[in-house]
Amino acid sequence: MQERFILQVEDLTVSFDGFKAVDALSFYVEPNECRVIIGPNGAGKTTVLDLICGRTKATAGSVKFHDQELLTMREDQIVNAGVGRKFQTPSVYEDLTVFENLELSYPKGHSVFGALAFKRDAEVRERIEEIAGTIFLGDQLDEKAAFLSHGQKQWLEIGMLLIQDPELLMLDEPVAGMSVAERKKTAELLNRIIQDRSVIVIEHDMGFVADIATRVTVLHQGKTLSEGSMERVQNDPKVVEVYLGH
Ligand code: ADP
Ligand code: MG
Repeated sequence: MQERFILQVEDLTVSFDGFKAVDALSFYVEPNECRVIIGPNGAGKTTVLDLICGRTKATAGSVKFHDQELLTMREDQIVNAGVGRKFQTPSVYEDLTVFENLELSYPKGHSVFGALAFKRDAEVRERIEEIAGTIFLGDQLDEKAAFLSHGQKQWLEIGMLLIQDPELLMLDEPVAGMSVAERKKTAELLNRIIQDRSVIVIEHDMGFVADIATRVTVLHQGKTLSEGSMERVQNDPKVVEVYLGH
């Protein structure tokens, strides 16, 4: 039987010198769900992702990915368990090509020799080409990342995560600084990505949110202010008051 939730966040709390940036937060993510977290600046959105990926240590609570408790795991163990995280600013290697950036992110297997190594190289190349196509960079494989647009760099970084095949992908404001056309394509990309995995996205652009969200969680002062379909949270008077009305 397929489990109901891929991620279960319960009573998650972090306190920085007594200030609770995330305060007894609970939410649950289903397989193939795109959960969007919205909310005013300083609401705790980025901190939630930092806690899930192990970058920041929680003060209390639980984050279960399948049956694994992530809060006691190191960042690299969480990545290996299948949780990928993209930060706000793209961090691609400017001097390397699109192909090389993707190749560097390809999961390292055991080293192999001779005919086996040859076979592995072919597999890696095939996978890189497939991912490049998915992120709209199929024709830019030999282009240095430095020459890509800001939006293309963001896609490349998503590709560098996708090539590791995470079951849960977390993206912090992926369309910030993108053109309208790039935003539309990113929405298309995310809708394709969730066919095989779950995604948590932090975003401000409500048009983009409407294009991608399965469910929306509105965060305010480290707590859930409202949660549900885009339609539901948009019409929630509390959300209009603290966020959308501004
Ligand atoms: P958001 O992403 O919703 O804009 P953040 O999660 O970045 O908000 O920040 C939430 C609050 O926690 C802010 O008041 C921020 O200043 C504070 N904060 C975040 N990280 C730290 C930290 N490492 N030390 C102290 N305060 C922090
Ligand atoms: Mg943030």
